[in-house]
Amino acid sequence: MTSSPGFYLVSLGCPKNLVDSEGMATLLRRAGYLPADRPEEADLLIVNTCGFIAPAREESQAVLRELAQARRRGQKIIAAGCYAQRSPDELAAAIPGLDGLLGTRRWMEIVSLARRLVPTPPHVAEGRGEVLRAAVQGSSAYLKVADGCRRSCAFCAIPLIKGTAVSRPLEAILADARRLAERGVQEIILIAQDTSDYGFDLGLRDGLALLLDELVAAVPQVPWIRVMYAFPGRVTAHLIETLARHPQILPYIDIPLQHAHPAVLRRMRRPSDVEEMRRTIRRLRAALPDVAIRTTFLVGFPGETEEEFQTLLDFVAEMEFDRAGVFTYSHEDGTPAYALPDDVPEEVKAERRERLMELQQGISLRKNQALIGRRLDVLVEGVGDGLSVGRSYRDAPEIDGLVLVPTELPVGEIVPVRITAALEYDLVGELAAGRGRRQRAPASPQ
Ligand code: SF4
Repeated sequence: MTSSPGFYLVSLGCPKNLVDSEGMATLLRRAGYLPADRPEEADLLIVNTCGFIAPAREESQAVLRELAQARRRGQKIIAAGCYAQRSPDELAAAIPGLDGLLGTRRWMEIVSLARRLVPTPPHVAEGRGEVLRAAVQGSSAYLKVADGCRRSCAFCAIPLIKGTAVSRPLEAILADARRLAERGVQEIILIAQDTSDYGFDLGLRDGLALLLDELVAAVPQVPWIRVMYAFPGRVTAHLIETLARHPQILPYIDIPLQHAHPAVLRRMRRPSDVEEMRRTIRRLRAALPDVAIRTTFLVGFPGETEEEFQTLLDFVAEMEFDRAGVFTYSHEDGTPAYALPDDVPEEVKAERRERLMELQQGISLRKNQALIGRRLDVLVEGVGDGLSVGRSYRDAPEIDGLVLVPTELPVGEIVPVRITAALEYDLVGELAAGRGRRQRAPASPQ
């Protein structure tokens, strides 16, 4: 063993998992373990797994298996995260030779587990201080405001895995935001299973709106603040007014609606007032004329008829969302929906997903074409071979589109770009005159 043992950490799944991975890495570094770029350089191999649905579990197993098969003598392997929380026995049986399992609610115990497997030398002094509950990627950072979920959507395993919602204290979130601002982060993305539920367990009313008011005051130098994962019915008039009042908060919101037929929504144990969904979208568009609305739909839920699916297609055509992700139902043991027959054949689920995606692609293309000639502020994230790649306020990292500019621009800066061409998901543009602005009106005629 070297004097300072190394760890190699793979983070799978969603940005919330990524924040936990960063937390584990910080604790390990403070305890004297060194991060390794390659598995063969490490003494400790850690996979922060995702266990949300079957394909995610398969991917987690594949990554663990590959690391386990290639490991050299003495290397230890730990499975952490949602899959380890949800089905530790299944995981241990699938990956013989696992040295440790650490559920998602216990990620902060990584050091004591690591020490049992690969001790650090006695002279290593442990660092102190709060662990940042954020994951920085380039100039953007995901900042976790709560963990767990107190809803009980019939298809969802998250409450089983993560437990009920626990909000972080406001001051702790603001302290993290200040540290991110000091590092020069340009975009803070608020995440939780349900950000619009922030503060309920702390006795706050409209806690997300309150948090946003405090956040913009705490980090005036961070030009972009983005809100992900709001629950339908919880996007209140006060929250919309707050989004509209602060130029720092991007006119972007992600509201996973899952379906638009009241009977399916009731079976899903979700809010089923579709008229209320329409009102919320209209209010958002009235208060924020340039707002980009992202949503998610789930097709093939037990009992979904062709007629119910058609209602969803009609709703999507009517509402013209800027972005929509479409998933097929996965029959998950332990969820309320597991008691229902998984009666929509897999090929029908896949075909419905295709039809909905195709419809949304046309909408997305038309919306992108309408932006030609307009100016958007773009956060530059990558550059090479005479091309820059970035995102506008309309694009959350990894899930939305990109803006391509055929010239090399400074990475990490927000620059003005005039849109010259539109693809289904991405835009093409050229550098516009002036500076990237921090104020509202991110899309304006040039
Ligand atoms: S709100 Fe989201 S995380 Fe919570 S139970 Fe419903 S789908 Fe799952």
